[in-house]
Amino acid sequence: MKLATTCVHAGNEPDEVTGAVTVPIYATSTYAYRRFGEHRGWEYSRTGNPTRSALERAMAELEGGADGIAFASGLAAIDAITDLLEPGDHIVAADNLYGGTYRLFTTITERHGVEVSFVSTAETEAFAKACSDRTRVVFVETPTNPMMQLADLAAVAAVARECGALMVVDNTFLTPVLQRPIDLGADLVVHSTTKYLNGHSDGVGGVIVARNAELAEKLHTVQNNVGAILGPFDAYLVLRGLKTLAVRMAVHEANGRSLAGFLAARKDVEAVHYPGLAGHPQHQLARNQQSGFGGMISFDLGSLEKARAFCDAVELFTLAESLGGVESLLCHPATMTHAAVPIEERERLGIGDGLLRLSVGIEDVTDLEADLTRGLDAAADV
Ligand code: PLP
Repeated sequence: MKLATTCVHAGNEPDEVTGAVTVPIYATSTYAYRRFGEHRGWEYSRTGNPTRSALERAMAELEGGADGIAFASGLAAIDAITDLLEPGDHIVAADNLYGGTYRLFTTITERHGVEVSFVSTAETEAFAKACSDRTRVVFVETPTNPMMQLADLAAVAAVARECGALMVVDNTFLTPVLQRPIDLGADLVVHSTTKYLNGHSDGVGGVIVARNAELAEKLHTVQNNVGAILGPFDAYLVLRGLKTLAVRMAVHEANGRSLAGFLAARKDVEAVHYPGLAGHPQHQLARNQQSGFGGMISFDLGSLEKARAFCDAVELFTLAESLGGVESLLCHPATMTHAAVPIEERERLGIGDGLLRLSVGIEDVTDLEADLTRGLDAAADV
């Protein structure tokens, strides 16, 4: 079955009792036993809820894994993976991650006795060099946020396998429509469902898809024992979002390509980071391991003043954190999503004061281009 069909149907069998074609929102905390000692497969909604389970099944189908495990946020999902580790264990992580993931690893995770080493996302050999017999997890985000660097998933997965570690991929930016990490060797795929999977900027959530049932079981145990579950209303919103995921991604992608080309042709833009551009250093890798380039672009205007003038002038791109909704958003990583990353580290990664990140929505691209022109004209006056 093609992925666009799976998007519409995954997890969506008609309700057994009523025949409802849409998975109902099971707004219940608990479930009546059939009789003493005999429940009906559902006991308590932290442990399992039919709406959440439908989403978990749907995500497993879309990513090609054994099962999904849904959480209250993307960070709760990532944190659950670290709960599989013990003090003394080691994580090798890519150095350009969502700022909140970096903050989680360098505060809570390290405080629990797990060492985290950060290596350059694009350098497979750096992952190999950093791995040791204590390494239990290799964690990458590709393309990275916001510099749009790629990790070679098949090659890094081979490194992880070699040292006996789990290969974890944050697939939030591309979704299974444009990249399927499990097919390339990943053990776990994680998402902030807050972004493209929900797609309408009206819910926060996270999900992990595990390659095999044993790993899924361990993560379901963490989910139940810690309790950072996704509620049924939010699970329903993500299920609804999944039905249009393939068509939304096609428009995000078409608009993203068009605007990246537009920005790259402007002399007043110092750099454009978008793997779909032929000049992107990893363009060929993107062609090989992705089935599209997505709707995330970052570009550099060279100074804080120009970035501020741009943000003040645009009318359609809303200045806000997050990404992946139908509406276009604009973010200044240095003061917003990546404010938690120390300044020296930001500078090393290229997250300067003039860098802006676009989450290109599904509006008409001519309107979006006109809006970018408005912003660039204002920046030129600074
Ligand atoms: N991963 C990526 C790539 C993100 O962009 C984000 C949030 O922006 C997260 C994880 C964290 O997800 P959440 O905000 O749902 O906790």
